[in-house]
Amino acid sequence: MKQNIFFDLEVYQSIINDSNFYIFIINFDDNRILYQNRTTEKFFGNQINKKFKDFSNFIFLNNDFNNLMEDLKLFIDYRGKPKSPIQGELLDKNSNKSYYFNLFSIINKTNKYKVLQFVDFTSYQEKINEYEKEIFIYKKILEEIQLGLWLYDSDGNYKIFNSYLDNIMKFKDGNWSVSEDEIKVAYDNNQEVLKKKQSTIKYEEYTLNDGKKHLFKIIRKRIYHNNKVLGVLGIGNDITEIKGYEEKLKYFKGLNEIISELSTNLINGKISNIDEFIIDGLKEIGKYTDIDRICFYNVDLELNKINLNLILNLNSNNKDYQELKFEHIQRWIDRFTNNYFIIINDISQIPITYNLEKMELEKREIKTILAFPLISNNELFGFISFENTQQVRFWDNDTIFSFRIITEIIAGALAKKTYENKLLEAINNAEEANRTKSEFLANMSHEIRTPMNAILGFSEILQETITSGVQKQYLDTIINSSRNLMKLINDILDLSKIEAGRIDISPEPVNLKRVFYEIEKIFEIKIKDKQLDFIIEVDENLDKYWLFDETRIRQILFNVVGNAIKFTDKGYIKIISHLEIEPNTNKKNIILCVEDSGIGIAEEHQKRIFESFYQVSSKSGKKYEGTGLGLAITMKLIKAMNGEIMLESKTNEGTKFTIKFKDVASAEISIRKQEENYKTISKEFKFNGERFLVVDDIDNNRELIKIYLEEHNAIVLEASSGKDAIKLASFYRPSAILLDIRMPEMSGFEVLNILRQEERTFDIPVIALTAVSSAFQEKHLYRNFNGVLTKPVRKDELLNKLIDILKLS
Ligand code: ADP
Repeated sequence: MKQNIFFDLEVYQSIINDSNFYIFIINFDDNRILYQNRTTEKFFGNQINKKFKDFSNFIFLNNDFNNLMEDLKLFIDYRGKPKSPIQGELLDKNSNKSYYFNLFSIINKTNKYKVLQFVDFTSYQEKINEYEKEIFIYKKILEEIQLGLWLYDSDGNYKIFNSYLDNIMKFKDGNWSVSEDEIKVAYDNNQEVLKKKQSTIKYEEYTLNDGKKHLFKIIRKRIYHNNKVLGVLGIGNDITEIKGYEEKLKYFKGLNEIISELSTNLINGKISNIDEFIIDGLKEIGKYTDIDRICFYNVDLELNKINLNLILNLNSNNKDYQELKFEHIQRWIDRFTNNYFIIINDISQIPITYNLEKMELEKREIKTILAFPLISNNELFGFISFENTQQVRFWDNDTIFSFRIITEIIAGALAKKTYENKLLEAINNAEEANRTKSEFLANMSHEIRTPMNAILGFSEILQETITSGVQKQYLDTIINSSRNLMKLINDILDLSKIEAGRIDISPEPVNLKRVFYEIEKIFEIKIKDKQLDFIIEVDENLDKYWLFDETRIRQILFNVVGNAIKFTDKGYIKIISHLEIEPNTNKKNIILCVEDSGIGIAEEHQKRIFESFYQVSSKSGKKYEGTGLGLAITMKLIKAMNGEIMLESKTNEGTKFTIKFKDVASAEISIRKQEENYKTISKEFKFNGERFLVVDDIDNNRELIKIYLEEHNAIVLEASSGKDAIKLASFYRPSAILLDIRMPEMSGFEVLNILRQEERTFDIPVIALTAVSSAFQEKHLYRNFNGVLTKPVRKDELLNKLIDILKLS
């Protein structure tokens, strides 16, 4: 069954007893307490039957308690009905707490009561105070903040407009400083946000009461309260000053960029470009800083002279510009020598004592001038002036500082230029001297070689005729020494030629394997004498023709292999060669190693043996012959052939030279004729003392042919140039001439022409020695020759040709 709580007395009692309210029920007539609820009892103790005023120290803030309690009219109206409750504030003087009270009467048929109800008010009051404080703070913030704040409500009225805005936008007379147009802008922008949801950030200019336009960054935001649009909250920040700083910053950033570009150019650029960089840099700086003219003066402190070196008229066209007189600006020079600068903001203000200076500057129409010294090594050598001719100008310290840096950079660069030019001159002189020396050596060696050839040649002829033992011994010594001298001269000539830059590299198809075997052949006797193993290992990838300067390759190998044999007493000499293909570029490099098991080279000598005339003195005291030039020549040749040489060696274990020729091209077509079927000539074959003249400017080429022929009892004359060849030919009338085609000064063709015209030589058979030949060429190009041999000349081929021509078989 549904319970009706209104009939449940306990519910009422409990509500009254445990309510937050203090409740007293008071006897209507004598004011004694009839009932107090539990809350009251807890706080005031049992007060039944007592009068309220007897136990409490309460006062009613608006009225006297006694009167209030006793004045029955306050409780009952004229009809005897209870009046509406009285409310007010009650203060407990003991605890200084205030309460909110409610006093009313209950009158029924039988009884009348007064009811006093009150509740602790202090905590509420504190909250209210707190709240007021907060509001106060917000108000204060609004007043003090240096930002414009306003609330523009949905009806289009400014609800909040903070004091900051008032202060900057209102004159004393109450008028606004902003213009109609500016108000319109503010209106439009507020309305825009009011209508749309988004916030905006805008930059707007307003005229303030200082009479100037200020730039504001304004944020507008629509705000809500209880889901209703309250209006637009605006926050405006005056950024006029920041903007000024930003612009200044931007300006200096630009200036610094020009300065750093100028200094990078001056540091990294070529000395020859320094003047150009300085002019360009100054022009740019002048334009950037609005300077009308920049002048560059040299100062000679000894002669007391100033020279105008350069004028850059950027915004002035005063062409009739005379020299500044030293004595007129003496005070400037004094300042400059102490590393101070000159600044004259307004020429017209120059005091009368410096009238001459003033007149000079006025002649140049200068209004403002800034000038900085150019100092190097503590010595003033000039100054740069920055001039304004259009109007007077006031320079700020930062810009002055920048100009100062610029002039210092320029002074540094000019000093560097002078210094480097001197250095360059010294280097050039030294190089020139070196070249002249090499040139001289080359010429001398060449000149010495001609008489040496004669000495050797005649000595060799004498050898055939002299039979007396002692004389023959003397002659042998002469010939031996002459050969050594000849080798030395040839080496010097070679080195000098390379140093004087007179070496050409002429690539031709070369079969490396063949060259290696020929080298072995040249050293055959020495190898046998020393009982060395000579090993040649050639990668089969190399088994074709490569474009190389064969003569130079041979010269290189001759030196390196020659050394290996010379410095190895037992064991082996190895020539190993292989192809290396660079993975990324596909370039072909040829690696060539010459290894020996000889005495080795101690580490401290390894770098130096490539120097001219450097030889390691052996500890054992054993003397090795040589000049110390071989490796110097070898290294230079290798470099000229786009190669490099490396060395590994250990004393008493051996030495390995690795030579790398980079990016070598292969000669795809085999130009050389197929292996001809020449007869093998037996070792027993002997010439009958026939004399042959071998003409080639490269010693090793002649040497090889000479060895081949001498083995078979021939006498070999050598000429290293066309001129020598003609002389020797007409003198000796050899049985045949082997003539190299490509020679400096006079080619084989020219030599042949002359030989054919001379009475004593026209009928001597001449065989051409050439790098490349084809059947076609032999028929046409070499038709006037008696035969053609392709280099490298093979022994059988050579002998066959000579036997054939001389009709010896
Ligand atoms: P040269 O052989 O005429 O003395 P080089 O320039 O060819 O001149 O060599 C310079 C020096 O390097 C030699 O004197 C020798 O001391 C050292 N050297 C060169 N090659 C070798 C080698 N394979 N083993 C030991 N020492 C060597």
